[in-house]
Amino acid sequence: STFQELGLNEDLLNAITDLGFVKPSEVQQKAIPLLLEEEDKDLVALAQTGTGKTAAFGFPMLQKIDIESRTTQGLILSPTRELCLQITNELKNYGKYCKGLNVVAIYGGSSITEQARQVKRGAQIIVATPGRMKDMISRRLVDISKIQYSVLDEADEMLNMGFYEDITDILSHTPDDKSTWLFSATMPREVATIAKKFMYDPTEITV
Ligand code: AMP
Repeated sequence: STFQELGLNEDLLNAITDLGFVKPSEVQQKAIPLLLEEEDKDLVALAQTGTGKTAAFGFPMLQKIDIESRTTQGLILSPTRELCLQITNELKNYGKYCKGLNVVAIYGGSSITEQARQVKRGAQIIVATPGRMKDMISRRLVDISKIQYSVLDEADEMLNMGFYEDITDILSHTPDDKSTWLFSATMPREVATIAKKFMYDPTEITV
């Protein structure tokens, strides 16, 4: 199939052309049409790094959020600073024609004041590591009460690193009616527990 056939809008298709992506990857073919459906769904995707999973959740999130609003609507949690910055860069590339889009990265080991300043300018999407995110929530430097789409990226890695409590705490500050999209390379019991606790009848895909 082609990116056009997946239902992506012109702004995203133009960015895809610029990036030189010719054909959607398997996880993109499976996830994008599902996540673009009018009725928002929860998703559990078993997918390794390098399969194009960032675009698999990034394109639908960019298409579904309201870019004219400055409210934070999308939250992506990822295990490391490097991954957090990588996802942020990818989303900025994918959304280069989405006028007014603001994606902000939140991670430890860097100025919290500066990150708070960026959030305050109005970020529709926040990409965060769990520890710093929890810190910013408790200091009321960020408002995630209007989140509609949350992504748990590399969920198995985040749980291996001991982020269960932080993730639970963060998600408790988001609305119950949001959608959650979980990506993981493996499905140990801890990941299944998180899925069961936070997701409603998720669609499962494997690549
Ligand atoms: P990820 O699995 O999200 O880390 O993506 C791995 C790499 O593949 C990234 O550098 C992407 O820019 C690239 N990529 C993602 N989707 C496609 C695609 N459909 N065609 C070519 N490259 C892609």
